[in-house]
Amino acid sequence: MPIETGRHFLAIPGPTVIPDRVMRAMNRPMTNIYEGPLIDLTHSLFPDLKKIAGTEGHCLTYISNGHGAWDAALFNTISAGDTVLVLESGRFAVGWGAMAEQMGAVVETITAPARRGVDAAAVEAHLRADTAHKIKAILVVQVDTATGVWNDIHAIRRAIDAAQHPALYMVDCIACFGCVPFEMDKWGVDVTVAACQKGLMTPPGLGFVFANQKAMAHRMQNGCLSGYWDWLPRADPDMYYKLFCGTAPVNHLFGLREALDMMAEEGLGAIYARHNRLARAVRAAVARWGEGGPLEFNITDSAARSDVVTTILTGDVDAQVLRRMCEDELCLTLGLGIGLDANGAFRIGHMGHVNEPTILGVLGTVELALTKMRVGFSAGGVEAAVSEIASD
Ligand SMILES: *Cc1c(COP(=O)(O)O)cnc(C)c1O
Repeated sequence: MPIETGRHFLAIPGPTVIPDRVMRAMNRPMTNIYEGPLIDLTHSLFPDLKKIAGTEGHCLTYISNGHGAWDAALFNTISAGDTVLVLESGRFAVGWGAMAEQMGAVVETITAPARRGVDAAAVEAHLRADTAHKIKAILVVQVDTATGVWNDIHAIRRAIDAAQHPALYMVDCIACFGCVPFEMDKWGVDVTVAACQKGLMTPPGLGFVFANQKAMAHRMQNGCLSGYWDWLPRADPDMYYKLFCGTAPVNHLFGLREALDMMAEEGLGAIYARHNRLARAVRAAVARWGEGGPLEFNITDSAARSDVVTTILTGDVDAQVLRRMCEDELCLTLGLGIGLDANGAFRIGHMGHVNEPTILGVLGTVELALTKMRVGFSAGGVEAAVSEIASD
């Protein structure tokens, strides 16, 4: 282990950097979970979470990671033999679809055009062809954390409406929940899935499902084969002891409360603007680096590049060597290319507790590593990022 001075910085797309305030809030002894302040604190979380999701519907909370929240969404709405349409734009929608398949669902897939987001027109055409309305649910990811793509969730809703299709619209917002705008009710999303370890700046361990009345009606009709993932007991605010189907995740609740307080202090609009500004800084740097060598954006459609993670293709520059150098010598952890050639891709996470010094530090460190590697690229990425932020 080399001796490090200063903090090692984590720039992976989740789990993200935990603010000191959140860590302090979590560092406490166990408390009474049946009565007292923890009960009020827990109830205070739901309005805040629903505000971020833009919904008046139910918020079901689980001790789980994102995969658990995926299962929670599926167990309550899908039964063996049901048809599910997966809108694939990277690894994550595929993973969610695979869980539906394991439950016995018949999975149909529309694959997004290479290096672009989901094509709403293709969704409309596919749904129009389903005249018998066999498709029961549509699964899509708002930001795919592997490819770095941002999908236009509202546009896909309009496509579903244009085809007059009744399928349940289910959206995975895990990568960007609380980082980019999302309006569950206004955009007609029936089920939203999120988790606490990315934009919500809390250690991994809490998964969230938001469900509207239509989704609840599906639950009533569908039943739920699992006691743990069942929405019903968790949706009853009077049955506190059932909210977590057992012991409450005490420290996580204190941590999430603090993170949501921080978010309220900054304001959602300011948080979205900060993510957009810092994402544009990252994109300015990547564009500059690419002028003199093989580095390029994985997502070619500039309007579909997400504000939370950027996936960079490196051509003949070895991305593993770059990542190792950053990790072992330069106190920076970058994201591995997933679902892509790991030697030819890396990812920069820019979500959650990030600001100008951290993002400019990440970009400067990547530029330092590229310089030390003596590979083909254009220097001046940091300068481009600075200009981008200054012009805001
Ligand atoms: C991180 C992520 C997941 C998986 O979450 P886990 O906590 O690792 O299970 C799913 N979908 C998206 C879009 C993600 O970014």
